[in-house]
Amino acid sequence: MKPNMAFEALALAATMGLCSGAAFAAETHREQTIIRNGEQAAIKGAAQFFTGDVRVDPLYPANNDMRSSGGSVTFEPGARSHWHVHPVGQALIVTSGVGRTQEWGKPVQEIRPGDVILCPVGVKHWHGAAPNSAMTHISICEEKEPGKVVEWLEPVTDEQYNGR
Ligand code: MN
Repeated sequence: MKPNMAFEALALAATMGLCSGAAFAAETHREQTIIRNGEQAAIKGAAQFFTGDVRVDPLYPANNDMRSSGGSVTFEPGARSHWHVHPVGQALIVTSGVGRTQEWGKPVQEIRPGDVILCPVGVKHWHGAAPNSAMTHISICEEKEPGKVVEWLEPVTDEQYNGR
């Protein structure tokens, strides 16, 4: 599979989840790959998985050797993911703005640039922007099976989002 084909598969896969992953290259490249900024089309976060305006900028796909994939996800003010769980967990690295995250049954937490959030296997949670600020985080997930990085659940209500 040529790199640009992998990116097309990645772009399709990214519409399905927070992480950009899921493109399993048919072969392993034995040289560095430099994915140039702007080569991969941004994808709008699907309304069935997100509340508000969300953009996923794919960073890199998983391959046969490296099972993690990465994407940069930007939430406009008030936007957030639905509740979800990750089959292998997730690392989030906040790169700009102010955001919020919450584990099921626990208080809403504010998150800021430089914060790293580790979401363990199977822990129900959401993440998104603050009400008056956009937020961007890098999301890194590993695949349990090809293309499977997230299991989507119900939307986050306004009451939950506002911590009431
Ligand atoms: Mn998550």
